Amino acid sequence: MLVGHLAVALTAKTIEPKISLGTWTTAAFLADLIAFPLLITGVEHFDPVPGAQLNRTIGRDIVYSHSLLMYVVWAVLFAGAYFLRRRYPRSAWLLFAIVVSHWILDVISHRPDMALAPGIGEVYGFQLWSSLPATLIVEGGLWLVTLVLYARATRPTKFTGRYAFWIGAALITLVWYGNIHAGMDPNPVKAGISGLILFSLMVAWAYWINRLRPMKA
Ligand SMILES: [Zn+2]
Repeated sequence: MLVGHLAVALTAKTIEPKISLGTWTTAAFLADLIAFPLLITGVEHFDPVPGAQLNRTIGRDIVYSHSLLMYVVWAVLFAGAYFLRRRYPRSAWLLFAIVVSHWILDVISHRPDMALAPGIGEVYGFQLWSSLPATLIVEGGLWLVTLVLYARATRPTKFTGRYAFWIGAALITLVWYGNIHAGMDPNPVKAGISGLILFSLMVAWAYWINRLRPMKA
């Protein structure tokens, strides 16, 4: 998923405003931010699915970035690092949950390529992304609702706060829509680098929005 993870980050920010939207977005994207370098170095793979019109790629051996056990490990490290710095148990638990939520959303949207742990052959994936109407309703709907709720829970400080939010959201929606149709670049190095750039830009946008749109008191 793509905007589905962002929807989770927007919701987390309204539940726990102490943490920046950028940090929530990093947590929600963490598994993908780990997957791209592994893709570039050839540790993990995404293969094209012959004849597929939508959802054109399937992961192979994506157990380090995308197995449930490893999500728990990444979540403990991420939330643990936060806890050691800030000492807010509630926020740390929520960060843990948001990192792990990535696995649940990916199991819903991916083709069967999501394992429970490295070394376990069984893979899961309910292929939401193979149906355009279902993707638009479930992931698109979640994204739209959380965007509106976030806009209502925050107040733009300046002119840019209003427009950077909606223009950024529109651009991300276009990338997401294109991605459902196009899938990943077949060259793993290009796919990994463009993924890292795109996801880093979205994280940067989220940190920026956090400053431009403080929560209403
Ligand atoms: Zn993912």
